[in-house]
Amino acid sequence: MSCTKRGAEEAVSDRSKPTRPLSRPDPGSAEEAALLRRVLGSSVVAVLVLDRCGQAVYANGQAVEELGIGPAGGVPAEIAAFRWIAVTGKALHDVRCALPEAEDGTRVLSINAEPLTEDGESAPQRVVLSINDITEQYSYYEQALRESEQRLEEAQQIARLGHWFAYQERESGRQRLWWSPVIYDIFGRDPQRFVPSFRRYLRSIHPDDRPMLRARLANASREDGYEVEHRIVRPDGGVRWIRERGKLEHDASGRRRRMFGTVQDITEQKELQRELERRASHDPLTELYNRAKLQQLLHSAQAAYRRHGTPFAIVLFDVDHFKAVNDRWGHTAGDAVLWELARRISGVLRETDELGRWGGEEFLALASYTDEAGGAELAERIRRSAAERPIGQVGTVTVSLGVAGIEPGASLETLEHRADQALYAAKAAGRNQVCRYASLPAGGGR
Ligand code: GH3
Ligand code: MG
Ligand code: MG
Repeated sequence: MSCTKRGAEEAVSDRSKPTRPLSRPDPGSAEEAALLRRVLGSSVVAVLVLDRCGQAVYANGQAVEELGIGPAGGVPAEIAAFRWIAVTGKALHDVRCALPEAEDGTRVLSINAEPLTEDGESAPQRVVLSINDITEQYSYYEQALRESEQRLEEAQQIARLGHWFAYQERESGRQRLWWSPVIYDIFGRDPQRFVPSFRRYLRSIHPDDRPMLRARLANASREDGYEVEHRIVRPDGGVRWIRERGKLEHDASGRRRRMFGTVQDITEQKELQRELERRASHDPLTELYNRAKLQQLLHSAQAAYRRHGTPFAIVLFDVDHFKAVNDRWGHTAGDAVLWELARRISGVLRETDELGRWGGEEFLALASYTDEAGGAELAERIRRSAAERPIGQVGTVTVSLGVAGIEPGASLETLEHRADQALYAAKAAGRNQVCRYASLPAGGGR
């Protein structure tokens, strides 16, 4: 608060100081010439006047010192080239000029060039150059740029993300592709030997993903951009998943200029994602589908039945006297029995059948494109496969099975309930057998 106040007071006192009126020497007067000479002489900007032949007809102290101009007015060829301004009549601003120096050094100059037309002349005869030596700033920015590029490269290595651009070569008119170092790494290519091209990139794509990618890229040219995930095959045969993004860059007039994009190696992400999806749909003990996944499959089967009349049946089954297995051989042995049963039963399914763990030692099989009788055939195969030979020290293990087929108007809950009733009947009838809902006596069946 007090700072602001003091600042304001100073401003007031500054304004109250008496100011000397600006004295301008008369234009063209000896006084003005002397003043200009003093100003030009003390300026840190090199000022030079060239004639149409590129000879220096005037050089201030800084120009003499910086460019080593001798009494004959000879200037370095790079500077003399600015004489063309006298011909074109067009001023140039901030032209960067590299001036070679002894001992391999280079000085970088920023040059403003103005054509100079004297009174009475119709065309410019001379060129005024004001030259700033920006070598130090330039090397500072060059160093900063190098460091920033290095950091970008390191960041790209960490993120496993590289960038590329595709452009048309001016001289040959050919399409060229440029990759940042990480992309070579992702594709398993040596940057010293491999020249990337669109054709070579397409050849690296996993054969199964090529048709999809061609379609996406064809659309991309209409959409101005794309994002796509696909696999590539590296020269060593290794398969990587990549996420690729591309977009068209336009110049100021709206014309397409070049394609720019990124490539990221997402193999680890994809594997993790697949593992998470697997865990969400599978039972860890038996490695079969879990109940949630079975529910999903049942809903799909129900939808297909309603839409197209595709029939399906379910087989619900439960291990017989499993409590006794646990009690006698222990829970771990019981787990091993469940795992072995899952393997055996998986082996007798058709391609269109699905199997999962419904809960505890209860399983459910879904038989598509079949009615209850077909479901009963599957159930019988399951029953036999379970009991076909002993399971280690536990001995022979049997299962009881209930079958129900979908019918018009029946909900999934009804179907599950019917299969459960049939299973209960199989247990009641002595276990190790299949019971169809349709064959249950009145009350349970029809
Ligand atoms: P039933 O023939 O009538 O089916 O007799 P059961 O002894 O099999 O009776 P029930 O189906 O009611 O018993 C289920 C048993 O299964 C109880 C439970 O301890 C056991 N169980 C459930 N899940 C697992 C599991 O993941 N591992 C093991 N080892 N046992 C399990
Ligand atoms: Mg049970
Ligand atoms: Mg049981």
